[in-house]
Amino acid sequence: MQTRRTKKDFRFQYVRLCFTLPATLGDRGKTPYERLNVPEDLARWLIELGISDFALQFCEDDLVMTKRVREAIQRAGEALATAHPLDGKDLKEINAIAMVPPPVPQLTEDGRSVIWKTTELRSVLSMISRDLIDLATGPLSAHVKMCANASCRGIFVDESRPKNRRWCSMQTCGNQMKKFRARKGVKA
Ligand SMILES: [Zn+2]
Repeated sequence: MQTRRTKKDFRFQYVRLCFTLPATLGDRGKTPYERLNVPEDLARWLIELGISDFALQFCEDDLVMTKRVREAIQRAGEALATAHPLDGKDLKEINAIAMVPPPVPQLTEDGRSVIWKTTELRSVLSMISRDLIDLATGPLSAHVKMCANASCRGIFVDESRPKNRRWCSMQTCGNQMKKFRARKGVKA
């Protein structure tokens, strides 16, 4: 069943794990749209990410720490997308949080797949940072891109065969651009 996604919904589809966190801030190129406003939003994000089964208790400091890591990851993604060196402070931030033990693997009931669990926020942020490290040092690093919608600035990995993906998502930015072009009479 296809449910319509609203602006306040978190972004997981077509987003590499490490960029699901930066995607909690939308419309980065114009007036940013914050999806993590209160600690409860963070608890909901972890449930939707599949890391926790119930709402964990967080405080304002947790939110501040999460956003600090989030912005370091966003800038690291932008650096990869534009082939610029990574900022030294961001590098420190990402490496420091990656020191924390990541979530643990748990076998699902059918014994065929794995889910990752933890009740520690720092552990989740570690997993996110480690995923960025994997990406930056692996073969896909050359295919990290920034969304062609200038008001979005979402970061994604172009895994399409012709390597011609331009939007963070066809459902949001790609679709918007198609409508915009149709209105203006420009061929997509
Ligand atoms: Zn986009």
